[in-house]
Amino acid sequence: IRIFVPRDTAALAVGADAVAQAIRDEAAARGLSIDLIRNGSRGLLWLETLVEVDCGGVRHAYGPVYAEDVASLFDAGFLQGATHALAHGPTEAIPYLARQQRFTFARVGITDPLSLDDYTSLDGFRGLRNALALSGDAIVAAVTESGLRGRGGAAFPTGIKWKTVLQAVSDTKYIVCNADEGDSGTFADRMLMEGDPYVLIEGMTIAGLAVGADYGYLYVRSEYPEAIATLEAAIVLARKAGYLGTDILGSGRSFDLEVRKGAGSYICGEETALLESIEGKRGVVRAKPPLPAITGLFGHPTVINNVITFASVPIVLDRGAAFYRDAGMGRSRGTLPFQLAGNLKQGGLVECAFGVTLHDLLYEFGGGSASGRPLRAVQVGGPLGAYLPEAQWQVPMDYEAMAALGGVLGHGGLVAFDDSVDMAKMARYAMAFCAVESCGKCTPCRIGSTRGVEVVDKIVAGQQRPQQIQLLRSLCDTMVNGSLCAMGSMTPYPVLSALNHFPEDFGDVQQAQA
Ligand code: SF4
Repeated sequence: IRIFVPRDTAALAVGADAVAQAIRDEAAARGLSIDLIRNGSRGLLWLETLVEVDCGGVRHAYGPVYAEDVASLFDAGFLQGATHALAHGPTEAIPYLARQQRFTFARVGITDPLSLDDYTSLDGFRGLRNALALSGDAIVAAVTESGLRGRGGAAFPTGIKWKTVLQAVSDTKYIVCNADEGDSGTFADRMLMEGDPYVLIEGMTIAGLAVGADYGYLYVRSEYPEAIATLEAAIVLARKAGYLGTDILGSGRSFDLEVRKGAGSYICGEETALLESIEGKRGVVRAKPPLPAITGLFGHPTVINNVITFASVPIVLDRGAAFYRDAGMGRSRGTLPFQLAGNLKQGGLVECAFGVTLHDLLYEFGGGSASGRPLRAVQVGGPLGAYLPEAQWQVPMDYEAMAALGGVLGHGGLVAFDDSVDMAKMARYAMAFCAVESCGKCTPCRIGSTRGVEVVDKIVAGQQRPQQIQLLRSLCDTMVNGSLCAMGSMTPYPVLSALNHFPEDFGDVQQAQA
């Protein structure tokens, strides 16, 4: 009998190790033989620890399971898929999962993350095998044709970036994966690295073959120890099996990689600061040009992409560019793993084609607020994303549609707030966050964020409110147009959206504006 207990950080945080041990102990006490597998998370985080039992090839879900529930699960006959207060029936039929379109997360939660047999039996390394038979130009052409855009937030077309590196003349080129997932409410990169590390290794290797790079770095934030341990173990196993190293699958081609651990700075998620950090320097943003694609890591042409971008590439090379491009809308092709966080009943990971509405994500998937109070605001795209009021929740989730609203889709993180939120505090927090995390290189961000905190405080206190509002808008304009990177230029997004959509939280702003 196969039983699955996730070892994903979200499950570990609520006692998954204790649940696994309790299941082993209970089975031993009852003289039952079981095969307990530690899988990744299915992404239904409100049900963690989600225990699954394989009954005749169909996995049945139970959750949230705590160690003290285990004896009653055995008593009820959960090894045969019996009903129980914590039973949810066949996992794949749970509406939250059944309504998703899982491309990148197809294997996450299903496999033992470090089992190469599991990975290859579910199409793993097929994209790499295809890529080994193609020229760099052909690989880049497939990625371009798929319409894949960078999933880290900037949404730059991946094929164009790769083509620039392919055409750069240099003996040395690098592949760098940005796994410094620091946006509030985001966890897709972590879930993928912990739940299906080989897909990321495969995607980076394909990138290396495409542009002529034979070495890569995976830059992972130090707050992700489980992801780091899983990746490091996976790299060793992949190398041993011939998927990495000097002679990949007997092709004579070489590619290898290593994990580099970040040190807790938000700005090291900015690509040039990340390169500085890998080089052993302080994480300070570099001026562009030159682009990293021309002069990147250690001065060499470098492909730098986010985890989900690289993890999407094997699907393109396996199933074809058209398969990937067929999902989505407008210029946003494929799927995006949305991460539902904040005050929602059903927080978790929802991978859908672009075009799903924010309303559906909040209510059909998220189940509305966890508090039972009406939802009031949603921040989309991390701490630099705009706060969207209910009037904008019918917007399809697509890069261009969000931009038209003055928002960003970013890395797909959603943080929901109910009507007890104070939006002036959230605006102040955005400026305070920027003041703490600014790398200090340019004045609008370094000084502007600190001044921004003071000005919001004065508005809320009612001190010269009309003048202070004007000053805040002018300051935001300077930050948007005068900052070197997105940290300073996007901090005004949450500030201005809070001020524009929720003026009542800033005192009698409308009267002041009039
Ligand atoms: Fe550094 Fe801020 Fe300027 Fe970016 S905007 S370079 S984080 S000071």
